[in-house]
Amino acid sequence: MTWEPVIGLEVHVQLATATKAFAPVAVAFGAPPNTLTDPTVLGLPGALPSFNAAALAAAVRLGVATDSTIRARSRFARKHYFYPDLPKGYQISQHDEPLCEHGHVDVWHDGARHRVALARIHLEEDAGKLTHGSASSRVDLNRAGVALVEVVTAPVLPSAELAFAYMKALHRLVRALGVCEGDLEKGHLRCDANVSLRRAGTDALGTRVELKNINSFRFVRAAIEHEIARQARILDGGGQVERETRLWDGTAGLSQSMRGKEEVADYRYLPDPDLPPLVVDDATLAAARAALPELPADRLARFVDAYHLAFDDADLLTSESALGDFLDAAVAAATPAHARPLAAWIVNELLRVLAGAPITASPVTPAALAELIVAIEDGTISGKLGKDVFAKMIASGDGARAIIARDGLTQISDPAAVRALAEPILAANARQVAAYRSGKDNLLGFFVGQLMKASGGRVNPQLATEIVKALLAGDA
Ligand code: ADP
Ligand code: MG
Repeated sequence: MTWEPVIGLEVHVQLATATKAFAPVAVAFGAPPNTLTDPTVLGLPGALPSFNAAALAAAVRLGVATDSTIRARSRFARKHYFYPDLPKGYQISQHDEPLCEHGHVDVWHDGARHRVALARIHLEEDAGKLTHGSASSRVDLNRAGVALVEVVTAPVLPSAELAFAYMKALHRLVRALGVCEGDLEKGHLRCDANVSLRRAGTDALGTRVELKNINSFRFVRAAIEHEIARQARILDGGGQVERETRLWDGTAGLSQSMRGKEEVADYRYLPDPDLPPLVVDDATLAAARAALPELPADRLARFVDAYHLAFDDADLLTSESALGDFLDAAVAAATPAHARPLAAWIVNELLRVLAGAPITASPVTPAALAELIVAIEDGTISGKLGKDVFAKMIASGDGARAIIARDGLTQISDPAAVRALAEPILAANARQVAAYRSGKDNLLGFFVGQLMKASGGRVNPQLATEIVKALLAGDA
């Protein structure tokens, strides 16, 4: 029996707001425990929430970027559960009137564009953090009340691979929009995965299992693959998959049953009486749409279609806005025909020099790189000397043309000049010339190497080979 996986992801995205969702308390990572609280965050009686407009703006921006339907009036709801990380006894979330529905995120995977349907994007607050020791557990409420959106896909992802690609695309998107800092080490994106199997070729959804605690990006794929295999074993053995929530253990590479799935009724959702409806008017939506940057998936398509980049280069150069901005600025300083070599130099040379530092710290500006690539492409210097010039640009901050002129690196492309350099080399190596002529073809490289050396690498390499060959054949 072949089983077809169906995956839906619920991703919590921490919004990049200076203060918490419902209280004017700073958001910061690594502050001493329980220093970022106030009566609202602590859920003290009488404290009232008031919603952070910056969180709404960020959620609306993500909503329009995903082409979602955005409710003109949406509501906050209380989701009740009792756990020490939630001092109020309920989480403020959205239930039957979420801010956004029916959007999509475009995901490039293996050279193809996939449109992943979203069920909803809703606003909610984060809970605190528990640390369990052997004798006691500790609660830190610094994270409690931080503004999140939950981005929920429809049950449409067909593989662990695509689920992982979706996570990367969402990560890119929220950073490009500036709605989330996207620091995975700080848990800015956290994913729960819902997995079910159905008979290949059928439509009805199978019973799903929710995997929680996939606390690292890398684990998304492994956790889902493991769950697919686990369910296939159960179904192949004639059993039934139980609807449950399982905890993924990334270190052990396996999951454990955590609880039978709660029903919606268990949460006793209620409209939150302390918060007015969220209102988003048409002018706000229009302004949010007008302020959208080019989305990463569209930019990747443009880099492939208009710049003719290899998919992997386009993918890498759209992984961060600043990288794509660098390429666009460099192309603007050269021509679109230079986009491919510019991309190759950014990927292979500049990023290597930067060694993990952000491109915004590049010692070479986009215009300076463009000047170098134009000089290589128009034959002023050879590609090999280009690397030396590039190193000098980085060391000195000087422009490419200035270095080429100062160091006399201009490529020698005049056949007569090349012959004048080559002839004495043949004369000085009569024994090798005789050997070549008696059939030792591989000595060609020796002569070309001598010629390049004599010219300081300046001879056009193709021309060097041609002329040496001709001289050795006695044709020149
Ligand atoms: P809940 O409110 O119980 O979390 P939702 O209907 O909001 O349930 O769905 C949560 C997630 O589970 C969504 O991402 C959805 O796509 C996914 N999902 C729902 N049913 C299935 C299924 N049968 N198989 C896989 N994923 C599913
Ligand atoms: Mg859910």
